[in-house]
Amino acid sequence: MTAQRIDGKAFAARLRERVGELAAQFEGQAGRKAGLAVVLVGEDPASQVYVRSKGKQTVEAGMASFEHRLPADTPGEDLLALVNQLNNDPAVDGILVQLPLPDHLDEQAIISAISPDKDVDGFHVINAGRLSVGQSGFVPCTPLGCMMLLADRLGDLSGLEAVVIGRSNIVGKPMAQLLLDANATVTIAHSRTKDLPGVVRRADIVVAAVGRPEMVKAEWLKPGATVIDVGINRLPPAEGAEKGRLVGDVAFDEASNVASAITPVPGGVGPMTIAVLLRNTLVAAYRNAGLAVPEGL
Ligand code: NDP
Repeated sequence: MTAQRIDGKAFAARLRERVGELAAQFEGQAGRKAGLAVVLVGEDPASQVYVRSKGKQTVEAGMASFEHRLPADTPGEDLLALVNQLNNDPAVDGILVQLPLPDHLDEQAIISAISPDKDVDGFHVINAGRLSVGQSGFVPCTPLGCMMLLADRLGDLSGLEAVVIGRSNIVGKPMAQLLLDANATVTIAHSRTKDLPGVVRRADIVVAAVGRPEMVKAEWLKPGATVIDVGINRLPPAEGAEKGRLVGDVAFDEASNVASAITPVPGGVGPMTIAVLLRNTLVAAYRNAGLAVPEGL
């Protein structure tokens, strides 16, 4: 079997286009643009790239982008004061504090200070709670993006066996919750799971969110499984090269001989994350303006 490549890049482009159309519609109805505020503390190079990319894509989608760059030694109370100011700013619909924060800052305290109605990353404990009891809130962008790819590929997930490898609050746990809500039979595996290959082999759907390069091997997969690879790992550079190759948590080439569909890395889940962030921001804008969220957003 040669697996179909699930093209997250193309899917994300279509989603951004749809968000752009609806953002223009929102502006017409509300008399203002939907707005996303991104806060970056410090100069972590990867975070700077993400923040730049988020700002650019927000503007391209016809929404307002507010960037706040603070020095690495910003005291916690200053960051909390900024979050509070953004909570009260009617031009701001979504607030994203780029993680990781420098060590002296308490991530949980900062995330808890964001208004749950502007928490477009879906990391606030209220939104995690809403997801777990089936109320509408904000769902973390990466797992929601994975669900969109799965729904597009498989349609109804009822009764399918899904194994999520990884139990982080930002990927693994919300992913498992979404699969459960879609009536899949869900197993969450982690570093203490016994016989991980045996567990994964039961799965019609495998979601790997571990952070270990090419850990999931072809022989772990049930023939015909659908594989969503969330992992982003940079291999050490080959001799003479400046940068190492990016790979996922799944050994892509060999897995492609067993799976029926698989997301590549890069170009699979990665591009979905910012596209879903824009989608969540527009949903927040509609809700904050007291307008009905359009069908299909
Ligand atoms: P975390 O480090 O928070 O969680 C990793 C999880 O993997 C943990 O639950 C851990 O188990 C589990 N794990 C570690 N080693 C093993 C092992 N040998 N066998 C089974 N499970 C194991 O990572 P994140 O969830 O934040 O991210 C996971 C990956 O996804 C990373 O590569 C990250 O870069 C990528 N990522 C990609 C995004 C995108 O936009 N595409 C967005 C977010 C993340 P335990 O809990 O027992 O320690």
